[in-house]
Amino acid sequence: METLFGDQLEQSVASSGSFADIILPVPIPKMFTYKIPRSLKEEIGIGYRVIVQFGKKKILTGIVGKVHQKPPTAYDAKPILDVLESHASVNPVQIRFWAWMAQYYCCHIGEVMNAALPSGLKLSSESKIQLNPTFDPDTCAYPLDEREEVLLKALQKKEEMSFEDCESVLGIKSIHGIIKSLVIKEAVVVFEQVKEKYSPKVENRIRLTSNFVEDKSSLEKLFHEISTKPKQEEILLKYLQEVPVYRQAGLNKNGLEKKVLTDAGMSTSSLKTLIKNGVLEEFKIIVSRFEDEAGSDSPIVLTHKQLEAQVKIKEAFEKKHTVLLHGITGSGKTELYITLIQEALQGGSQVLMLLPEIALTTHMVSRLRQVFGSSMGVYHSKYSDNERVEVWNGLLSGKFSFVVGVRSSIFLPFDSLGLLIVDEEHESSYKQYDPAPRFHARDAAIMLAWLHQAKTLLGSATPSFESFYNARTDKYGYASLDKRYGEAQLPEFHLADMLIDKKKNLLKLDFTRLMREKIQEALVNQEQVLIFQNRRGYAPYVSCEDCGWIPECEHCDVSLTYHQFGEEMRCHYCGFREKVPHVCPGCGSSKISAVGVGTERIEESLSLLFPEARIARMDLDTTRSKYGYQRLLDDFGAGNVDILVGTQMITKGLDFDRVTVVGVMDADRILYFPDFRAGERAFQQITQVAGRAGRRGKKGHVVIQSRRPEQAIFHQIISGDYRNFYLQEMGERQRFFYPPFVKMIKVSTRHKDYKTAERAARHLHNLMAEIQVKKILLGPEKGLIGKIKNQYIFESVVKLDRSSHAQAHFKQELQQQLEALQAEKDFRSVRFIVDVDPY
Ligand code: ADP
Ligand code: ZN
Ligand code: ZN
Repeated sequence: METLFGDQLEQSVASSGSFADIILPVPIPKMFTYKIPRSLKEEIGIGYRVIVQFGKKKILTGIVGKVHQKPPTAYDAKPILDVLESHASVNPVQIRFWAWMAQYYCCHIGEVMNAALPSGLKLSSESKIQLNPTFDPDTCAYPLDEREEVLLKALQKKEEMSFEDCESVLGIKSIHGIIKSLVIKEAVVVFEQVKEKYSPKVENRIRLTSNFVEDKSSLEKLFHEISTKPKQEEILLKYLQEVPVYRQAGLNKNGLEKKVLTDAGMSTSSLKTLIKNGVLEEFKIIVSRFEDEAGSDSPIVLTHKQLEAQVKIKEAFEKKHTVLLHGITGSGKTELYITLIQEALQGGSQVLMLLPEIALTTHMVSRLRQVFGSSMGVYHSKYSDNERVEVWNGLLSGKFSFVVGVRSSIFLPFDSLGLLIVDEEHESSYKQYDPAPRFHARDAAIMLAWLHQAKTLLGSATPSFESFYNARTDKYGYASLDKRYGEAQLPEFHLADMLIDKKKNLLKLDFTRLMREKIQEALVNQEQVLIFQNRRGYAPYVSCEDCGWIPECEHCDVSLTYHQFGEEMRCHYCGFREKVPHVCPGCGSSKISAVGVGTERIEESLSLLFPEARIARMDLDTTRSKYGYQRLLDDFGAGNVDILVGTQMITKGLDFDRVTVVGVMDADRILYFPDFRAGERAFQQITQVAGRAGRRGKKGHVVIQSRRPEQAIFHQIISGDYRNFYLQEMGERQRFFYPPFVKMIKVSTRHKDYKTAERAARHLHNLMAEIQVKKILLGPEKGLIGKIKNQYIFESVVKLDRSSHAQAHFKQELQQQLEALQAEKDFRSVRFIVDVDPY
C-alpha cells in the first residue's frame, strides 16, 4: 500500500500532477491510479470526491488520496470521469488518519473510507433504460410481446426510465427478463446514472412578491386602503403591520410558513387567491434538519474539588497529550468537561466529545444543549444519512465547532481540533466488531488528537485497565475526583446470598428477601428502583426435564433464547426464530420448561411480587425504534414507572433524582465469563449501575445477589477499592501474558465447510508462526462459538511484544500473507478476519 505519512502529503495541488491515486470504497489492498483529464486539472486536489469507473461496469465515488506524475506500470490509467465538488470534503489530516487506521487495524483504506463517509456522501448508481435511437418497430426481426410494447410506449413519453419506473408501469416486480429481451431486440439501451444520495430538506414557503418589497409605497398604499380590502388581505396586512420593517425584509428572504398566516386567521383558499392576485408568491427554501436552540451563558461554578481537578488537568496537558480523569459517579465530570470545552472553543479550536451510543440520547446531550445551544452538532447512529451529512457539512461550513457523537464521529471533517473528550472511556461499545475497520474509538481518538496536535481527556469512574496502566506508568496525565457533588453520598451496598436464601426457602422467583425488602421500602416511599440483569429474553434456554434436550440454532453453535413474547425461541446471533415444541423431539416428553432468567422473566416475577407497582423493561427488544429508548426514559423520569428492569443499557449515564434502590440480580453471571476481561467488566458494570442510586440528597441502596458473595471483588466494589482490584488483576494479566502487557491480535477463519475452515486456519497459523518477532501463538482452535450463520469458525490468537516495531513488522507480514492466501484457489471463498486489540 502507498504510505501516506509524512512529506508525501506535501503535494496537495493537482496542477503539479497528472495522475491521482484514488481511495475507493472496496476491500482492495491499495489505491488505484487514474489519469487527471486536462479539463479537470485545476479542479482536483487531495480529499476531493471524484467519480471513476472501476472494473468493467462499476461506477464509484472515490476520494483523491494523492496527486503525482507517475503513471502506473501494471495497467493503463483510466481517466477520472468527474469531480463532485468545488471544495475538498475530506482534508489531508483525515486521509492520514484513515491510512493509520488501515495499518494499525490490518484492513484496507477503502474499508476505512467506507466507514468514515456517511453514505449520503457516497454515490449510488442507478440503472436506467433509454430508447435505442436506431430502433424501428416495423423492421424489427423479432416480434414484441404485449408488456414490451407497453414499456416502449411509456419510454417514448419519458425519454428515460429507472428499473423501478418500469416496475410501476407494468405493475409487476422483477422486470429484468423483459428488459433483457428488449436489449437483445435492440429496442432499448441500459445505462448507469450516478446520483447523489444526500437530499437537502426543502420546504415550501411564501413571501410577498417583489412589487411589494421593492416598492415600499405600494405596500403603504395597501396599508392605507386596509378597510376597503377584502377580509383575507386585511388579515395579511394587519399581520405585516405588526412585523417591524427589518423583519419584513427577513421574512422576504426566508419567507413564511403557510401555517403562520393560517394561524393568524387566513384560510387556505384566501391564500390561494392572494397568490393568484400577485400579492404573495410561493417558493422553495433549503432548511436545516436540526432545530435552532439558544445556549445559555450563565457560568458554571466549579466546586473546590472540581477546580483542583481542572488545574491538574491543565497542568498535565502542558506535558502530556492525554489525561485520564478518574472521577466517581456523580462527582461532576460533566461540569468539568463543559468548562474545558468552553475554553477550547474560545481559543478558536474545535472540540469533539465521544459518548457511548446509549448515553448519547440521555441527560448528557440535553445538559450540553442547555449550554451550547444549536452551535453543538450531535452525531448519532440512529440519525438518517441526510442528518449525518448535515453534521458533516456543518463542520465544513463552520456552523459547528463542537460535536458530541458516537464512535463514528471520529471520522468527521475536523480541521483544527484542539480538544477531544472520551467520556466513559472504559465502555466496550467504543469497539467496533464488524465490519472492518475493527477499531476502538478511544484509541483511535488518541491517534486523531495526535495528528491534530490536540489534547485528549479520558473520563471514567472505572477506568479501563489499559488507561489506568498508562496513567500509572506516566504515559498519561492523571486527575481524580473522589467526592460526589453536593450533599449526595455514595450508596450503601448489601450483599445477598442466593444459596442461603434458597436453603431457607426465602428465595422467591429469584429475588432474595433482602432484595424484596429494599424494593418494597422504595415503593412505600414513592421512590424508584432499577433492576439490572444482563440477559434479554425470558430465559436463556428451554430444556426437556426428562432427557435434558436443549434446542439449538440450526445455523449457529448456540442454544436458542426463549422469548415469552410471541412464545418463540430466538437465536441472538443470526435472528433465527422457532416456536417452542409441544413435545421433546428426543424423548417425546411434554415437560419442556424455561431454564434461567432473562429480563422478560424478571419483569413478570416483579409484577407477581409487587402487583401494585408500575414496571417497565429496557433492553434491545423494547428500544429498537428511533425514539423507543428516549420514550422509556421520559416515562421513567416523569415518574410513570416505579421499577425499571434492564440490561446494561440501564447502567449508563442515567441521572434520576428519585432512584434510591438498584438491584443486581445475578452478579455471578457477569463474573464468570470466559474472557480475561470478565473481572474488569464486572467491576465496571456493577459500579456503574450502583452509581445510579442516590444521586441527590437521599441515600441510595444497592443490593447485589450472588451465590458466592464471599468473593474479594464484591468487597472491592463495595469499598470502591479500584486500585487494589486493579493491582490484583494486573498481577494475573502479567503472569499469563494478557494486555496491556502484550498486544493481542485475533485471527479468525470462516467457511461454510468445516474441513476447509480448519485447513485454512492451520495454513495461516503456520505462516504466522514463521514471522520473526517475539510472540506467543495460540490455536488454531474452534471458536468460542464454533459456528455462526452456517459458517464454521477457527481462531488463532497472537500475543505480541509491545514494541511498535514488532507490531508493525508482524502486521505488515500478516497482510501480505493474507493477500497471498486469499489468492490461492482453495481459499478464495474463505473469510479471514483480523481483529487487533479484540474485546
Ligand atoms: P458524573 O458525570 O461525574 O457522574 P455529573 O456531572 O452528572 O457527574 O454530576 C452529578 C450531578 O451534580 C449533576 O446533576 C450535575 O448537574 C451536578 N453538579 C456537579 N457539579 C456541579 C457544579 N459545579 N454546579 C452545579 N451542579 C453540579
Ligand atoms: Zn426429552
Ligand atoms: Zn443462529
